[in-house]
Amino acid sequence: MTEQQRFQLRRDIPVENGYDLLVAGGGPAGTVAAIAAAREGLRTVLVEATGALGGMGTSGLVSSWYCLGNNVHSMVGGVVVEICEALYERGAIEPGRGPEQWQRTKRGFGFDPEALKRLLDELCARAEVEVRFATRVIDAEVSEVKAGGETANRTVAGAVLHGIEGYSFVAAKAFIDATGDAVLAEQCGVVCRAAGRDTERIMPPTLCARVTGIDYDRFDRRRDQQTAVDTAVADGFFSQPDRHVPGIFRTGEHEGILNAGHLFGMDALSTQSLSHGYAQGRRLAEEYVRFFRNYLPGCEETHLSATAALMGVRESRRILGEYELSWDDFVARRTFPDQIGIYCKQVDVHVYDTTPEEYARFEREFTEAGRPADGEYYGMPYGILVPRGFTNLWAAGRCVSTDVRVNGSLRDQPGCMLLGQAAGTAAAQHVTTGEPACALNTRILVETLRTRGANLPQERLSETMSRCLPASEPSGMQAPPTPPGAERAR
Ligand SMILES: Cc1cc2nc3c(=O)[nH]c(=O)nc-3n(C[C@H](O)[C@H](O)[C@H](O)COP(=O)(O)OP(=O)(O)OC[C@H]3O[C@@H](n4cnc5c(N)ncnc54)[C@H](O)[C@@H]3O)c2cc1C
Repeated sequence: MTEQQRFQLRRDIPVENGYDLLVAGGGPAGTVAAIAAAREGLRTVLVEATGALGGMGTSGLVSSWYCLGNNVHSMVGGVVVEICEALYERGAIEPGRGPEQWQRTKRGFGFDPEALKRLLDELCARAEVEVRFATRVIDAEVSEVKAGGETANRTVAGAVLHGIEGYSFVAAKAFIDATGDAVLAEQCGVVCRAAGRDTERIMPPTLCARVTGIDYDRFDRRRDQQTAVDTAVADGFFSQPDRHVPGIFRTGEHEGILNAGHLFGMDALSTQSLSHGYAQGRRLAEEYVRFFRNYLPGCEETHLSATAALMGVRESRRILGEYELSWDDFVARRTFPDQIGIYCKQVDVHVYDTTPEEYARFEREFTEAGRPADGEYYGMPYGILVPRGFTNLWAAGRCVSTDVRVNGSLRDQPGCMLLGQAAGTAAAQHVTTGEPACALNTRILVETLRTRGANLPQERLSETMSRCLPASEPSGMQAPPTPPGAERAR
């Protein structure tokens, strides 16, 4: 292998002071984190690489939310409910769906992504969040406090941004990484699990699309779609014989989003692979629209109106936090005294290849082992937000500390928004009290979240967070048994 040529960059760049909190990434997690923190009085800057808030829910054209309830009671509260109610009042959710969807049932709803973009702009403006579009977080400065030769705690001093004016260094008291890919955490030296590096395989992404011209009186996804996919695979219609097609989800009168076409082998942490993936994704979107037109009643006039501006990445990088939520926790429906959210979405680890064995594995997990029954849920402990040993850095959204299977549940947008509200509120507690992220009083955090509408049903609270790392954790620490106070959700 030839050695990579290096270039040393030296620049004097402007420093911006005065911020309490910098949030990297304005997807579902980051936007809700920024709103929650700003409402607590933090001077907050939200840095977003694209030109819109909402992440996968808007620029990624994944405009459908599920499992806001577990068919018995609601999972969500706070800002998530506020957003659902506002979309509903504006007539921006799919016909026939309403409050039942976030008050009780697992069956969710599609929504108009443009309406969500506008709503998030308004909520941020009202909370006085400073939003910086077309700006990327590209680097960070971290200081280490050593105790007895050991690295004790680490504190982030600031983040380097790149926008149209060039570079700038933004200093702040607290930082939240909600980039999906743990970009800020990686730059801060947080130990992360990276797909394709720490794992053999990468769950394939999909470039989603928006489709119009669907006659929903005749198109029934649940009834007709899988049979049509199987027929088309047998006919040799597709360029890859992939039986796993989530398909078209209704968002409006004749509109839907198309989630179809796995990009097998695509690596979201490689620019070259990502670039190839975008072109391939657009080709696949066209192929799947042709499939719907040819094979599904009610879809004969389907038109591809747009492909997404943001790649639909399912797995890239996750932080290793003070707690790593595992499949065992999920199966036990474990709850925690310091849980900052509860959730019930089934595990959705997509097929890694087109073999029958992989499809059988996916189906088994999606419909059996990985699917909480009605009334069941699991808890999300505070420690999954906190990179180990950091005083003022949190992760929120898809890049929190979980194993890949649990991530296949809580990476859904409602789960990410709950994590965002918790991270923003924790950052506010840190700025007000000076408590480090890695030793925050979690009783106070849970009580504050409850007063802000969060749905946290645990009876017992704890001032210290649950900590748990798996046996395979890089430092060699062993996973302790069930964390103290953990119990099974009813
Ligand atoms: C194909 C697909 C289908 C899915 N279907 C559903 C579904 O039906 N329902 C559901 O609820 N969930 C679904 N999900 C899951 C869900 O959409 C994501 O997991 C969720 O959006 C993650 O939220 P997030 O806020 O962590 O990240 P994202 O939504 O990815 O948002 C991250 C934001 O950070 C920005 N960003 C990234 N890097 C930087 C940087 N360096 N500087 C500044 N900004 C940056 C991005 O532009 C983006 O706006 C799906 C996911 C995929 C991939």
